[in-house]
Amino acid sequence: MAAATLATLTALTQAGLVPEADHAALAPVTARYALAVSPDIAALIDPADPKDPIARQFIPQAAELDTLPEERADPIGDHAHSPVEGIVHRYPDRVLLKAVHVCPVYCRFCFRREMVGPGGEGTLSGAALEAAFAYIADHTEIWEVILTGGDPFVLSPRRLADLMRRLAVIEHVKIVRFHTRVPVVEPARIDAALIAALKESDKTVYVALHANHPRELTPQARAALARLAEGGVTLVSQSVLLKGVNDDPEVLAALMRAFVEARVTPYYLHHPDLAPGTSHFRLTIEEGQALVAALRGRISGLCQPTYVLDIPGGHGKAVIAASSVQPDGEGGMLVRDFRGQVHAYPPKGA
Ligand code: SF4
Repeated sequence: MAAATLATLTALTQAGLVPEADHAALAPVTARYALAVSPDIAALIDPADPKDPIARQFIPQAAELDTLPEERADPIGDHAHSPVEGIVHRYPDRVLLKAVHVCPVYCRFCFRREMVGPGGEGTLSGAALEAAFAYIADHTEIWEVILTGGDPFVLSPRRLADLMRRLAVIEHVKIVRFHTRVPVVEPARIDAALIAALKESDKTVYVALHANHPRELTPQARAALARLAEGGVTLVSQSVLLKGVNDDPEVLAALMRAFVEARVTPYYLHHPDLAPGTSHFRLTIEEGQALVAALRGRISGLCQPTYVLDIPGGHGKAVIAASSVQPDGEGGMLVRDFRGQVHAYPPKGA
């Protein structure tokens, strides 16, 4: 019998991942925020390491009860840009379609932690889904539909195929992108039926894989990603820069290399959002800039993610890596190389 997802403190204790003595402190956390650790992720955790970077992402901590004044239930402003239920239309040429608010795991730093989980916004009803597709069909400027949530790959292949068929008939939609953690947290779900479902339309399919530590790229995860790539899916990455998980140049470099080895092009490295009870994961932007600068020169250009911040309030993403170029005050520019040395452009003198 397949192992079950760990979704209670008791189950985590039986798996050796949470001492029973911690239950009293953690019960208010799990009463407020969803809990799920998939068997694949539970197997990756080293219970003997109190600083295990996988555990830190998924095992509840009492610090989640500390909500800071600047933290918000909807840190990236989804609701402010939602014209109909399930759609977020923040940028002109693309929309999010949030068909489901369930995930196979619940990340302790989740930016939508007030919306996902058993007590969250649920799955779109048939009528709401109709309205969402009607909105997409009516807005001819929508070139890309991004299925997110929640994790769209928790949907059955039958439901995914239905979504793809519905999108197939909307001529102006050219790209369908899925945001998912499934290839790393439940790789067996990436099977022939799921891949066949993605082929139910002739739209170009992208999968943006969310992973934050190189240990998540297990042989099983890499095999799942290979199945997607061989199924014609283009793979890109999304990671969150997290204190105690990947705030180290060596770890970030290993993560980005692991992506590229698995045919996943590094895309976004997110500065953590101001989600409630997540301050123990946040670094400063200056610390993030130093980490990203350390990747330059250390790893191949193929492995460089774009460091971004979702501006609170729904104002979209901004690239926040430190600039390597500035005016020299005399009409030219000063350019910093990967060693930190500054050069004039154009070069002075002969
Ligand atoms: S998989 Fe994404 S939406 Fe789900 S809990 Fe993690 S960060 Fe949140």
